[in-house]
Amino acid sequence: MPNQAHLNSTGRIDTMSVRPRAFLSMWCPEGSTVMAQCKYCGNKGFFLSVSEHGLCNACHTPVVVDINQRMSRVNESMRIIQNSKVLGTQLHRFELIQEDLNVLCEYEEKGIAHGASKLLDTLDAFREDVIANNIKAAVDSAIAKADAAPSAKQSMTAASKALLTINEGLQELPGNNELIACKHRVNKYVSDAKLNSVLDSAKLAEFKGKINRAIDLYKEALFHLNNIDDKDQWQLEQVAEIETRIKELSQ
Ligand SMILES: [Zn+2]
Repeated sequence: MPNQAHLNSTGRIDTMSVRPRAFLSMWCPEGSTVMAQCKYCGNKGFFLSVSEHGLCNACHTPVVVDINQRMSRVNESMRIIQNSKVLGTQLHRFELIQEDLNVLCEYEEKGIAHGASKLLDTLDAFREDVIANNIKAAVDSAIAKADAAPSAKQSMTAASKALLTINEGLQELPGNNELIACKHRVNKYVSDAKLNSVLDSAKLAEFKGKINRAIDLYKEALFHLNNIDDKDQWQLEQVAEIETRIKELSQ
């Protein structure tokens, strides 16, 4: 279909070729008069000639150039989205694609170009996938840093960055279940890291003989644990151990 832009097998849009204008015959084979009409501006007349894209002389070049430019930009944006790891860049490119596809759909409605509406239908799902994958990769990287951090405090800082990234993702995809589940996991990670950080300080105070300070920090840890509704096994064990330690140190 040389006169139509369409999705090829790789899912990319083929650009429309700017071909030499072909004049439509005024006469049908039977000999009746044909009235040509421009698909874009709607002008019609017995002596109006239209191109192979069904466009009049005035519309052909600007319309074909505009369609080609927008299709090239859509393909370029798709390439950038797939290669970039920067969420801001990807989101900006999705906006451009949306803008271009909206205009291309208007051409499609007039029967001039094809393929844009199909691509537009799949754009939201693709956008959601790209954002969720980007956030998950950033979170994995932040948690790997948190795991490798030399202290519980540094671990907490690294994991807190993951939470900021997830919140950024949730702004774009409110209610996304994967991101919400990820946020719960990282929240727990940060909460445990915070507890470990307080316990580290309490043990250090104990080691230095600052018993009142140590008791104070153990109570802080207990307060932190008491604010957690569904405690897991490790957290329940911590509560028991801390309560015992406070009793021992208070004697
Ligand atoms: Zn026209």
